[in-house]
Order: sequence, then C-alpha cells, then structure tokens
Amino acid sequence: MAGKSTKKRTMACKICKKIYMDSPCPQHGDSHMSDEWFGFLIINDTENSIIAKTAGITEPGRYAIKVR
Ligand SMILES: [Zn+2]
Repeated sequence: MAGKSTKKRTMACKICKKIYMDSPCPQHGDSHMSDEWFGFLIINDTENSIIAKTAGITEPGRYAIKVR
C-alpha cells in the first residue's frame, strides 16, 4: 500500500484523515490540511469493513492512514 502526495495537490485532513483534492476539509477547514500523509485507504462500505471500524471511519471516502 503506497500512498504519496505526488499526483495532484492531494491534501489530507489531520483530524478526520479524509483526503481531498484541491479543496480543504469542509468540516475542519484549511488550517488542518496537510500534504504530508502516508498510506491510502478507500472505504466504500463502512458497515462491513473491519478496516473502517478499526480506523474509526464512519463515512465512505478516501482516507490517509497517517497524517503529519
Ligand atoms: Zn476533516
């Protein structure tokens, strides 16, 4: 699993760890965005995903595993 912020301007929110492209997190704002994130997680089904439960993810989307 290799996720790097090399493609576009992909930024991850430090609080909810959700990944956004060219826009800040609508919940936590621009000040919590970081382009230093690692690992990449796509959650489609939060109900049946063990990974989502472990990571505390409650809504589908793209998430960073680690955000600096
Ligand atoms: Zn956020």
